[in-house]
Amino acid sequence: MIVLNFAIPTTMFVRRLTLAAAVLLLVSSAARSGATTEPTTDEPARTLSTLGQQPDWRELEPYQETITHDEFVHLLNDVYCTHGIGAGLIQVAPDEVRVLKAKGTCDYFTLHFARSKSERHPIDRTWTPPSALSKPPVDAKPLSGFQIALDPGHLGGRWARMEERWFQIKNAAPVTEGDLTLKVAQLLAPKLESLGAKVSLVRSKTEPLTPSRPPDFRALALELLHDAGVEKPREDFDGPADPEKERTVRWQEELLFYRNSEIRRRAKRVNDRLKPDLVLCLHFNAEAWGDPAAPTLVQENHLHLLVNGSYLPVELELDDQRFEMLHKLLSRAYPEELGLAESIAAAMAKATGLPPYHYKTDNVTPVGTSGYVYARNLMATRLYRCPTVYLEPYVMNSSEVFDRVQAGDYKGRRSVAGKNRASIFREYADAVAEGVLAYFKKVRP
Ligand SMILES: [Zn+2]
Repeated sequence: MIVLNFAIPTTMFVRRLTLAAAVLLLVSSAARSGATTEPTTDEPARTLSTLGQQPDWRELEPYQETITHDEFVHLLNDVYCTHGIGAGLIQVAPDEVRVLKAKGTCDYFTLHFARSKSERHPIDRTWTPPSALSKPPVDAKPLSGFQIALDPGHLGGRWARMEERWFQIKNAAPVTEGDLTLKVAQLLAPKLESLGAKVSLVRSKTEPLTPSRPPDFRALALELLHDAGVEKPREDFDGPADPEKERTVRWQEELLFYRNSEIRRRAKRVNDRLKPDLVLCLHFNAEAWGDPAAPTLVQENHLHLLVNGSYLPVELELDDQRFEMLHKLLSRAYPEELGLAESIAAAMAKATGLPPYHYKTDNVTPVGTSGYVYARNLMATRLYRCPTVYLEPYVMNSSEVFDRVQAGDYKGRRSVAGKNRASIFREYADAVAEGVLAYFKKVRP
């Protein structure tokens, strides 16, 4: 048995969190009408993430006898549950693991381990790792037979201010992350295609995939605020600097729309329609910029990449996140994610000269050996059911990146921010393609 700690009743914990963190834990009314309750508190138990779906544990049945005890324990302790897990939720025995299906019940999912590596049953999954692709014919391209979905982070366009991915310095063009990521995706797609990959874009314009809009979440926003102790919330807030904005109906509605609902919709598209072998989530990083109309420019500039893992105990208390964590672990996405992330990190570090980012929070776990890759439980990396690498290069509000974004996209090299170089968009896209190619050269037969 592994040692299980951190038995914190979720509802007690919620009251001590900030509103933003508490909202992370809150659930939809549908989920709350479920059968499970925390017997010692006066509020319904939180059993699902906000807008989370009740998991169908039968989906894990195909993983019976596909993993050994030691492989399972390694992934659990070193990648996914590195901060511990509440007592009784996951019980590892020599031959099997029992996972609580629904908080507050005694209903367990049991997974039997393979007795040895040679006795493992093959894994049935929608994606193929590069190492399992057949050897390409002599004249075929190195990524032939491999399907990649590019997920340009955020929305950009008219949504950029709402999603707080917008800032502007005087009369310069506004910097909007959702437009920058789409530009990179549009440059990267043909590069990967020229290497033989089949490429799709999860989002191809500056519009959301979700058909929902903020007002659709009014009832849920009011409920979340009520659950977080805000009884008579203000309707609106006074711009992005309003310190009380999280306690208003509009801010909650918008967050449910552009983050929660939108990412869930993208996951549906990835998992049900695109079914790729890999998703690359393209982002640009930033440091706190304060007032978006008079932002702070900083000198720091850095790079890091994320793979799924490092779930917090409070997240593992939620039935859907516990289920998705196991799905991810059992699918064995991690070795592919790590190999690709390390390879892309090496190519990007070489192209950009950027140092690795060091987290000041403890919700991540460093993985691999490059120093650039972390495990973290983000909604996209959790819900996309295939290897997913999440890229965070460049600090948008560093002086250098600001100048490079203002220079726009261009062919060849130009003197920008005191150095002769490629456009920031091409540098990003070229390095990613190079990193993916290097990984294929290493692992494809
Ligand atoms: Zn981003």
